[in-house]
Formats: sequence, C-alpha cells, structure tokens
Amino acid sequence: MTIADQIRQVRLNIEQYCANSGRTPEQVRLLAVSKTHPATAIQDAYESGITEFGESYLQEAINKIEACQKLNITWHFIGPLQSNKSRLVAEHFDWVQSVDSIKLLKRLNDQRPGNLKPLQICIQVNLFAEPQKRGVTKEQLTELLDIANKMPHITLRGIMVIPPRRESYAEQMSQFKQVAKLYAQLQQRFPQIDTLSMGMSNDMQAAIENNSSMVRVGTGIFGARGTPNK
Ligand SMILES: *Cc1c(COP(=O)(O)O)cnc(C)c1O
Repeated sequence: MTIADQIRQVRLNIEQYCANSGRTPEQVRLLAVSKTHPATAIQDAYESGITEFGESYLQEAINKIEACQKLNITWHFIGPLQSNKSRLVAEHFDWVQSVDSIKLLKRLNDQRPGNLKPLQICIQVNLFAEPQKRGVTKEQLTELLDIANKMPHITLRGIMVIPPRRESYAEQMSQFKQVAKLYAQLQQRFPQIDTLSMGMSNDMQAAIENNSSMVRVGTGIFGARGTPNK
C-alpha cells in the first residue's frame, strides 16, 4: 500500500472509532510520526493532506525540517529530550510533547526565539509509573502544569501518555479509561487545555473511545521502521 492508501485507511478508522463513541472526526487530530522515514515520505503524506508531523530524533528531525521548509508543516517533538539539547528544539519545533521536568520547561521557555509563536507544549505523564519510561508521575504533574501555565514563551496544551503496550483491546481500554479520568480532572483545574495526546498505531481505537484528542501514528502510515518503505 502507498502512503496515500494508508492515510485513507487511518482516516476511515478514525471516523469509525469516533462514530462508535459519539465523537466527530474533527475532535481527533492525526499526527503522522515520521521518525526514521525520509523527507520524501513526509512530502507524500503532506500531499495527502497531513500537516502535522512528529519526530523523536533531533538531528534527523532538523535535517528533515530543513528539507521540507517550503511546506506548511507543524512539527512536534515527541522523543526523549535531554535539557542540554533543548535549544535546538525551541528553535525548530512548534510543539514539544515530551516535557518532563521543570528544568526542561524553563530552558524551553528561555530559549524560544522571540520572533516565533510561543512553544506549544504537553507534559508527558508516566501514569503507570513504569521505571524505564520517561514522564512525570501523577503527583508531580500539577506542579509542572502550574509552572508551564505561567510562562510567557510557552502555551500549555495538555498531556501526552504512552501507556505500557497491551495487545488486547480490553486491556487497552482499561488503561486509557484511567488516563481519560485524569484528563477530565485536569480540565477542571486548567480549562484552557485542549490536548490529550494518546494512541498509536496499535491502540488507536481504545484511545479515541477514551477521549484522545490527538493520535500519533507512525507504522500505520509509513509502514515498519528501519526497513525500506516502498
Ligand atoms: C514512534 C512513536 C509513535 C508511533 O508509534 P507507531 O506504533 O509506529 O504508530 C507514537 N508516539 C511516540 C511517542 C513515538 O515515539
């Protein structure tokens, strides 16, 4: 299948899952995760109407951002980010979804060039407290949101979660229900947040049925990573 075919299929799936849960497809943004794929793949997806791309590896991403300069793309950084690399992200990206410390928040705010719009950020939450995963605990979350909310060069948009991988729909549903509950609580306290970034290629259905507002789809659009994609 071509990238255009895959995108058509992913969009049909999103429509179906929205219909299942009384939502409309406009409530779910589709982020195409293009990490490891070449700029030509991004151009193909762009021609199918995708305008938001997610990248995880900084140097690779910056090369592609430069190669795609003429396209009107919104770039999301979604990978692990060491604070000593924050400047490049603040200068090249529109969004950072993997913010997980006060130090990183401060650096991104200070390093965001004044001629650009505020950096749109999500705090990454490690809701299931997995030791090997990045993200703040539920306990640390409110403090980070409070701080982010007051920063002039940052716009707080919401949270990103990557729950433990589960193959069964029932288990995925049970995890995402917990996230949806947390997100609803946060919206009480921070009414302006509008982003629950949750769901990837293999768990998009359960995510959308639990109020995800942005799914991050890599394999489902570009095919397997690390193998030629043609
Ligand atoms: C790679 C990646 C994705 C995409 O995963 P697929 O399973 O290929 O859809 C989504 N989110 C994050 C944070 C990623 O690193």
